[in-house]
Amino acid sequence: LDPRLVSARASAMGARLTLLIIRDVTERERLDQMRNDFVANTSHELKTPVGAVTLLAEAIESAADDPEQVRRFAARIQAEAGRLGQLTGRIMSLSRLQSSDGLSGLRPVSLDEVIASSLEAHAVQADSAAVELVRGGDRGTWVLGDAQILIEAVGNLLANAIAYSPQGSRVGVGVRVEGEVVEIAVTDQGIGIAEADRERIFERFYRADEARSRRTGGTGLGLSIVKHAAQRHGGEVRLWSRPGRGSTFTVRLPRIEAPSADGTGKKKKK
Ligand code: ADP
Repeated sequence: LDPRLVSARASAMGARLTLLIIRDVTERERLDQMRNDFVANTSHELKTPVGAVTLLAEAIESAADDPEQVRRFAARIQAEAGRLGQLTGRIMSLSRLQSSDGLSGLRPVSLDEVIASSLEAHAVQADSAAVELVRGGDRGTWVLGDAQILIEAVGNLLANAIAYSPQGSRVGVGVRVEGEVVEIAVTDQGIGIAEADRERIFERFYRADEARSRRTGGTGLGLSIVKHAAQRHGGEVRLWSRPGRGSTFTVRLPRIEAPSADGTGKKKKK
């Protein structure tokens, strides 16, 4: 073996190793950065309701002899506490979805039940926004999944569809079987989403319409949860939208056959 060849190979390997190390360090730095951003954003989001509760509690103390004022402040404390509860709940869902265990056990899940539960959970919100909820499409479809997280994901899509829609409009939830895949589509006739925002709205804490999101109690985490929930189930989310006309979010999941009486869901065969 020519010693020059050996030394050329050694230096090429050395260069490759250096490149690998640099790549590894860059990836670690990127993950660290993401984690730091998440902590910073979360703390920032939590500060607002915590600050409000503190101020309102002080206001109650000084309004002690005015029962009407006390009632008003107490109602606002309840609302802020509700916001805090929703925010911490979503942060927990998201961190669970991003952890290595991800889903808490896979079972055959009926999409009829997922949709019925999500609709029920948002009936009051739809009522007070004067938006009509409509269930359409196929029945009797099943997936292998975590029912709780699927109910939460469909619920987040419903909550957004209602929040970004005008009074008197309709929000539809439909299911469609497409071969091996089952699609859950949530459609609204609301404000729509500009093309420039369509990728970014799935990022944590990204809001296309900051003021409206905060006014309607948004957390900026809803769609991030939907995306991770779909991916954890081996599926994906698609978005169609026309600004000023409305949006359709579609969650596509691998379909299974209705489980037999013993409760085992088998993968659908062609
Ligand atoms: P938020 O809690 O703010 O709604 P999401 O993660 O659920 O957070 O959504 C991110 C952003 O995407 C929202 O702030 C809003 O700007 C936009 N968005 C989500 N769903 C809709 C919809 N159905 N119609 C219009 N805009 C939407």
